[in-house]
Amino acid sequence: MYMTLASWIYDLPCVTCHIYYVGQTDRTLKQRYSVHIQYIRYNNPQSACVSHILRYTLKCGSIQNTVTLINRDTKGRLMGILEQLFIQKCSLEQTLIQEQIPGENISLFTVLYDVRLRHATD
Ligand SMILES: [Zn+2]
Repeated sequence: MYMTLASWIYDLPCVTCHIYYVGQTDRTLKQRYSVHIQYIRYNNPQSACVSHILRYTLKCGSIQNTVTLINRDTKGRLMGILEQLFIQKCSLEQTLIQEQIPGENISLFTVLYDVRLRHATD
């Protein structure tokens, strides 16, 4: 069954800082969003996203105007790599919440990012 194996990579912006949390879930975006909201309501910093919101914002936009789907595919290794790629991309562009900034960048991703920037300015 395709649906049960589907996984989503999404971003969720902080409405105060206009920077992003990047996450992946194998539930629907709506279910994942509800979990974030519950953690915020109960003051439970379970994820980098919630801990950021509790520290700086104390509120979260609605699912319609915040959650953006980045990619959907079968759950697995490739989606894990893609999630890391998007996290690093946001980190390099300084649009990632500080709670999620990776300790070290993966060199291959940095090379891909530089190549993309070079193409963009050609
Ligand atoms: Zn913020």
